[in-house]
Amino acid sequence: MKNIVLFGPPGAGKGTQAQILKDEFNLVHISTGDVFRKNIKDQTPLGAMAKSYMDQGHLVPDEVTINMLAAEVEARPDAQGFIFDGFPRTEAQAQALEALMADKKTQINAMVALEVADELLVERLLERGKASGRADDANETVVRERIAEYYRKTDVLKRFYQAQDKYHGVDGVGAIDQITQRLVQVLNTL
Ligand code: AMP
Repeated sequence: MKNIVLFGPPGAGKGTQAQILKDEFNLVHISTGDVFRKNIKDQTPLGAMAKSYMDQGHLVPDEVTINMLAAEVEARPDAQGFIFDGFPRTEAQAQALEALMADKKTQINAMVALEVADELLVERLLERGKASGRADDANETVVRERIAEYYRKTDVLKRFYQAQDKYHGVDGVGAIDQITQRLVQVLNTL
């Protein structure tokens, strides 16, 4: 079983690459951002709560995010492995993921991080905002706040996985298929 954390700041290309890699490696793709957006669309209480944070570019509190992620994992007992996209984003989430994997007698094999310079992230997110209809991509203040939130709370997770010798940085700039090839190369070594 291969369990991968696909990591990187907002706009690094995690969602795009996860869609491709899940088929290539037969993994279940879980994007916490997608699950929140589905809840907003379905007008659930979880969606309403998450929206108030997402609209400001802030992280949704750990407890709800962790419970939601655990439920998504539990819903897929058939999975051959997972690709986590947008989770974990805090140290508490990383700890919870360790415990959840241990519970299932498995583990995270690698954190694969897409590395992209900040100014390019802003450009990509604003561009995506024109087409995707995502409110948090359309507003430059919110976009910059999401990147700031990444550096405040999430970037530190590199060290968490480096300490376990599981961190792999990959250049996230270039054509989509070029970047996929770089990721596949790393995943094939696991
Ligand atoms: P994303 O689609 O991954 O860019 O996530 C969009 C938004 O959903 C983020 O800006 C957060 O507000 C929220 N979100 C997604 N994943 C998490 C997470 N693991 N922890 C907290 N908030 C999250």
